[in-house]
Amino acid sequence: MPIEALFATPIYTAPLQARRTGSLNADLLRECRQLCADDRAGRRWSAANYPGGYTSYGSANKMHRMSPTFERLGRLLSRHVAEFVRVLELDVSGRALEMTDCWVNIMPHGVTHGSHLHTLSTISGTYYVQTPRGCSGLKFEDPRLERMMAAPPRRADAARGVLPWATTAARAGHLVLFESWLRHEVPANMSRTERVSISFNYSWF
Ligand code: FE
Repeated sequence: MPIEALFATPIYTAPLQARRTGSLNADLLRECRQLCADDRAGRRWSAANYPGGYTSYGSANKMHRMSPTFERLGRLLSRHVAEFVRVLELDVSGRALEMTDCWVNIMPHGVTHGSHLHTLSTISGTYYVQTPRGCSGLKFEDPRLERMMAAPPRRADAARGVLPWATTAARAGHLVLFESWLRHEVPANMSRTERVSISFNYSWF
């Protein structure tokens, strides 16, 4: 086919570790729950900004500097971020691309996180701690969508890569990485069990 795919939008998904080692996920889950119990300011912030759920985004958003368990997660994530940067062919020489934010998200049944992007960051992502069967994934939006004023819809059987939205499944022990400008959302958690994740930003500026 005489076709080039230009301006592609890579999304990186992988297991955090090639082989499950130790109790990292159980430790993270315990600390996420403990943080939620202790973080009164965060629960107040969540009541206003994250209805029905808990996020430490507005309160404890540097968990990689507060907890050795999260610091360990950060070290493991950095290897994946370096690989993603290589694939994206970003030139981040001259200064460090570092984890600047790391926060907890707990979504009970029915909780949703609306469409947003991570301004002022370079690479963003999420690591999944607890993902009950049927819980929502991460839904990405085609960054060109707002320009498609009169574009016809895609065929019902169109390939995933040409649809205006694509969802990656949330899977405990796995991570997803994307460039921070890419708009995304978490649809409502339809599972009765809490969906628990840890989100993070790596910044270069
Ligand atoms: Fe996000």
